[in-house]
Amino acid sequence: MCGIFGFTTENAKNAGEVLIDGLSSLEYRGYDSAGIFTPESGAVKAVGPASHLKRKMPAGFFGRSGIAHLRWATHGEPTEENAHPHTDCEGEVWLVHNGIVENFKELKTKLAAAGHTFASQTDTEIIAHLVEEHLKTEPDFAKAAIAAINEIRGTYGIAMQYRADPSKIVVARMGSPVVIGIGEHERFVASDPSPILRHTRDVVYLEDGEVAILTPESHEIYKLHGAPVERAAERIEWDAAAAQRGGYEHFMLKEIMEEADAVRNTSLGRLIEKEGMVKLGGLESVEEKLKQVKRIILVACGTASYAALAGEYMIEEHARIPVEVDIASEFRYRTPVINDDTAVVAVSQSGETLDTLEAIREGKRRGALTLGIVNAVGSTIARETDAGVYLHAGPEISVASTKAYVSQLTALALFTLFLGRQRGVSIEEGRVIAEALKALPERIEEIYKRTKDIQRIAKKYADARDFLFIGRKYNLATAFEGALKLKETSYVHAEGCGAGEMKHGHLAMIDEHFPTVAIAPSDSVYEKTASNIQEIRTRKGPVIAIATDGNEEIKELANDVMYIPKTIDMLTPILAVVPLHLFAYYFARQKGINVDRPRNLAKSVTVE
Ligand code: GLU
Repeated sequence: MCGIFGFTTENAKNAGEVLIDGLSSLEYRGYDSAGIFTPESGAVKAVGPASHLKRKMPAGFFGRSGIAHLRWATHGEPTEENAHPHTDCEGEVWLVHNGIVENFKELKTKLAAAGHTFASQTDTEIIAHLVEEHLKTEPDFAKAAIAAINEIRGTYGIAMQYRADPSKIVVARMGSPVVIGIGEHERFVASDPSPILRHTRDVVYLEDGEVAILTPESHEIYKLHGAPVERAAERIEWDAAAAQRGGYEHFMLKEIMEEADAVRNTSLGRLIEKEGMVKLGGLESVEEKLKQVKRIILVACGTASYAALAGEYMIEEHARIPVEVDIASEFRYRTPVINDDTAVVAVSQSGETLDTLEAIREGKRRGALTLGIVNAVGSTIARETDAGVYLHAGPEISVASTKAYVSQLTALALFTLFLGRQRGVSIEEGRVIAEALKALPERIEEIYKRTKDIQRIAKKYADARDFLFIGRKYNLATAFEGALKLKETSYVHAEGCGAGEMKHGHLAMIDEHFPTVAIAPSDSVYEKTASNIQEIRTRKGPVIAIATDGNEEIKELANDVMYIPKTIDMLTPILAVVPLHLFAYYFARQKGINVDRPRNLAKSVTVE
């Protein structure tokens, strides 16, 4: 996730201004660093958002073409040297990139052997050197660039320039959005239409596996392997603010619709299905230490603590290591027992949550190995822990966390497999988990197709003031998360509870006005949960069930059903929560609440 922007024009432009202006409407996509390049004036970079770059800009940064980038770091800390645009050994080829080059290590080794030297720790920089290599035998810049792009694996949105051919921009797309703007004697490229709309409303969206060559008068599109593509331009009717949200009304909905990609990106380049293994580069330095760990404490707050709860069940079932989840705000005040064979693992989207950070510091003081499962690269938790696993979910703007939650669950599943294979989980069992993880994004995309049903159910229950959410085993976490999301966004009373625990108290509240959401996928505890649903129906409580495709009997049991595709038990929470996030969104929207800014709450809680 990051923002890219570029233009090439016949009309002289104050390039610095145009590029920074373009970046400022992409700020929601990343703010670790900003940088621009024009063939006439060179490159300027700064750590932080586009406003920091603006302060550094020299006067007279003119140009007839240029590229710009807002980074959301994945490989290498958010420093100036890692800021894009990146270049080759000679400073001739310049590019900005959104995504991850999965095979960057092997390419880097190959390029280093051929004499290339590198100025950053990013995966991106190798692309510039690859183009440089191709230019030795292919003098045409676009051809050399496309040959290099054909060598990289992973996800990318790329815009690339060459000093010797300054009016040309080569762009490419695989998994990261790229849109081309068509003006009079000028062309633009960006991650979304918002920075283009100031210049033109006519755009062409690039599709995965396509490249385009832009000049002021033309935009030729090709398949990666050379076949030309004809695509008519579309006219954008929305305004720039809606464009930032990809046309969605709220960031929360946009981010729910990005859950499939978030899960995909968390697993990207990490699953080795054949060997039933995962490769977690961030844990390599502590691999031996992790073998000695006898106990794990997961520390987290809010939504992340529910991901941790599902993580506890995953690790205990598959890796057989005792795990506890500690609410971070409690941890350091309750004199926990920690030894040097304990690992304290922080789960945090922002990597800045103060309670979680202090819990990690407490763990460190007591001699534990500390790890971070964090989204924001280079955040305080990422820096202060011994090692960790990044989520790569992209920036989350909505206060109510959605895509980071499914990413945290995915990262915990990867961590489980990593620990499990260290401790005797067989290749076969590993393969089952790895293959199920790989299939998840498509399963989530199937759930998106059912959004209308979820919307209808949210409407049906619009007048309810109270909700109970029940679930068992892996989906106890889903019950808590479903209830929290509804509270945060709709301000109604909602409680999560273990389905088996309900009869010890919560059941007393149930009547015909008090609906229950029962998370009941076809897993090892399905029959038990089904009995609990029956108990609620006997007391006239309405029930909305989350069930697995093919379960017809649940229609007799529940008043309404939201179906999810099949997966293995430990991954059911990743699918079951998607309809609940959508349910919370649509339920809140009926009340006219601005779900992106729930009252009294803020993102990244840096107070105790
Ligand atoms: N992987 C690249 C980096 O870490 C690009 C990240 C992005 O999409 O901003 O620099």
